[in-house]
Amino acid sequence: MSGKQDKEGLRLQTLAVRAAVERSQYGENSEALYLTSGYVQPSAEASARRFAGEEDGYTYGRSGNPTVSSFEQRLAALEGTEACMATSSGMSAIMLMCFSLLKAGDHVVFSQSMFGSTIKLIGSEFARFGVESTAVPQTDLAAWRAAVRPHTRLLFAETPTNPLTEVCDIQALADLAHNASALLALDNCFATPALQRPIELGADIIMHSGTKYLDGQGRVMAGALCASDKMVREKFLPVQKNSGMILSPFNAWVVLKGLETLDLRMRAQSALAHELALWLEQQPAVARVHYPGLTSHPQHALSMRQMNGLGGAVVSFEVRASGPEQARARAFHVLDTLQTLSLCTNLGDTKTLLTHPASTSHGKLSEAQRQAAGIGQGLIRVAVGLEHPQDVRDDLARGLGTLP
Ligand SMILES: *Cc1c(COP(=O)(O)O)cnc(C)c1O
Repeated sequence: MSGKQDKEGLRLQTLAVRAAVERSQYGENSEALYLTSGYVQPSAEASARRFAGEEDGYTYGRSGNPTVSSFEQRLAALEGTEACMATSSGMSAIMLMCFSLLKAGDHVVFSQSMFGSTIKLIGSEFARFGVESTAVPQTDLAAWRAAVRPHTRLLFAETPTNPLTEVCDIQALADLAHNASALLALDNCFATPALQRPIELGADIIMHSGTKYLDGQGRVMAGALCASDKMVREKFLPVQKNSGMILSPFNAWVVLKGLETLDLRMRAQSALAHELALWLEQQPAVARVHYPGLTSHPQHALSMRQMNGLGGAVVSFEVRASGPEQARARAFHVLDTLQTLSLCTNLGDTKTLLTHPASTSHGKLSEAQRQAAGIGQGLIRVAVGLEHPQDVRDDLARGLGTLP
């Protein structure tokens, strides 16, 4: 987060710990957790006005909750958008966005390097309802441009990507979308608003998996869409009210408190990830390291410009091997000799988590598809947490020093 001021005059660091709905009559300093599914109405007239949308006020848990509102206000403040709508997970945020904005015959352009479920949801599930889509190479702007059709309504990108940390130019994609009268949606899960504020680069919708860095401690599932007040009120809210992909108040409260330390965590975890990436580059058993903070990264300059000079907290590396079989055996060895760090399919935790993408997130692809996506059998993803750097290195060195 920069030192920039928002429209109320408070800086981002302040909003990260203070933006919320008003305190209750009890004056609680830590935001209240409202566990209720219904709300007692002050009068029949007021109830009627609330249901007609003429007056603000809570009516039923599917259409709003004060704890969820606090999370939405705080995340909107951090992203610099007018409004935000919370959802039950990152995937339900994408679901809500597509349901709200698309109809049969519309076309979406998205990166082929996006989160696996995102590709399945848009490329397969929405295709059953007549929504067309084209997947393009993440960093090839000409391919994005060539894919745009007259009925293209949405460009959807994620940067940096999982697990190879490919970075695309948000501003260039926003210009491309707007010239085509389309919208740019950006999955800001990896960078978070602490490193990257896509709204300032022209994105229209910022999508989050709150499960990752926003919570930051691997506790709950959550998601969100940040956008203009008009889009949230007129597009997302009506669909959300009727479909129920809502965030539970308890999970909202957990992520709300997580946002208070987002900036500190992202800076500390990015610093540790950078240190680890430099160390991995020096290891004879490592063939290649993928990290936006390294000068060897193909979009290093763009990344530094776009991500507040930091590389994020995810580092991927390839174990040196003579072929796919040896690569897999060696990667499994590194993962199986871990004593401190976790072999765990998640990221954005304070605990460092490692995964083997070729057999998990990208396990359903054919070997040829995996090769095309650059996901080799020797690739290991490290989502760096907050342990002592020496303990992280020691745990990796255990396997890297004894490869079969
Ligand atoms: C995890 C993730 C999602 C999906 O979020 P869930 O909360 O797991 O539904 C989407 N995009 C990215 C980049 C992710 O890492």
